[in-house]
Amino acid sequence: MDVMVEGPRSAQVAGMLHERDIPYSIAIGDVDPMIAREQGNSFKKQKSNLNCKMDWKGYYRLDVIYSFMDDLAASYPYLCTVCVIGHSAEGREIKMLKISNGGSDNEGVWIDGSIHPREWISTAVVTYLADHLVRNYHQLPESVTNKDWYILPVLNPDGYEYTHTHDRMWRKNRARYGECVGVDLNRNFSYGWGEKGEEGSSEDPGNIFFRGPEPFSEPETAAVKRVILESGTNFKVFLSLHSYGEVIIFPWGYTGDPCPDYVRLLEGGTCIAKAIYDTSKRTYKVGSTKDLMYYAAGTSTDWSYAVASIPYSYMIELRGKEHRFLLPKEDIVSTATEVVTGVLRLMDYVDGKHPETQSCVCPK
Ligand SMILES: [Zn+2]
Repeated sequence: MDVMVEGPRSAQVAGMLHERDIPYSIAIGDVDPMIAREQGNSFKKQKSNLNCKMDWKGYYRLDVIYSFMDDLAASYPYLCTVCVIGHSAEGREIKMLKISNGGSDNEGVWIDGSIHPREWISTAVVTYLADHLVRNYHQLPESVTNKDWYILPVLNPDGYEYTHTHDRMWRKNRARYGECVGVDLNRNFSYGWGEKGEEGSSEDPGNIFFRGPEPFSEPETAAVKRVILESGTNFKVFLSLHSYGEVIIFPWGYTGDPCPDYVRLLEGGTCIAKAIYDTSKRTYKVGSTKDLMYYAAGTSTDWSYAVASIPYSYMIELRGKEHRFLLPKEDIVSTATEVVTGVLRLMDYVDGKHPETQSCVCPK
């Protein structure tokens, strides 16, 4: 567990840990300089600036990301559409990009970033993937182009802006609940919602894992549900990007039991991990949410797998072992490259075209 403590209180906390014989080490002595280094300047000085262009050399504000999506759709109108799938608790647009060649048999792939807004690298990777798909479309394999790609770079726009303007470490959305603010959107989905008590989520609006008063109480999660269930698309893949940890995890999170398709999900996840290793020699672990992380009840992937029946539902926790949420901007492109390679490789596996799986498919 990582604990962040205000400077003046650190001696007191160290004393309490000593008293109770709880072993600890200092991971980051001073977070402020690392926040500054992440962006190459103080994040407080960043302005919202439409003249900024997405270049994956920095982390950008919501308006820059939305302009990038609009520009991409304007340049490639035969491949891209941008739609507003809902509005956030504070009324911001939730913008999604769809990439499709219009094939009538296409299956769907969902990919989202920044359900937890402090995980900035997730949005950078999702936008990088969108850009890569569109600009290289005609060189991409059929397993990629025979899919309709539903791309949501910022699932939680209020929280995302808040991490740029007020609190770099904000995790929830910005809905008001009495004196408290914010629901952990990745505890607000319906399947297993509220299970495992305080280990799986929290009923306390002041807690960072607050699950909300009921499933889909939040406009951001309700928008995701609507698109997935009402678009008429047959979704095969659901990917939600997070940081940090370098793990690829799949259901269940609400229970320790293996899900019915454990082996298939493990194989698909291993395809992603192997492609990442081939690209950057980094090792992402693969396993169930509970096995590799902890109980998490009401997650988007438990819901997408169980309720929306999307067979390949994964969360990918991106890089950040050393810097936690504050991955330096210089690491964006290499992180995005390894993950995009992994995601594209998964499409081969999903279509049954992966050489490794062909050799181990049951003989007929
Ligand atoms: Zn997260």
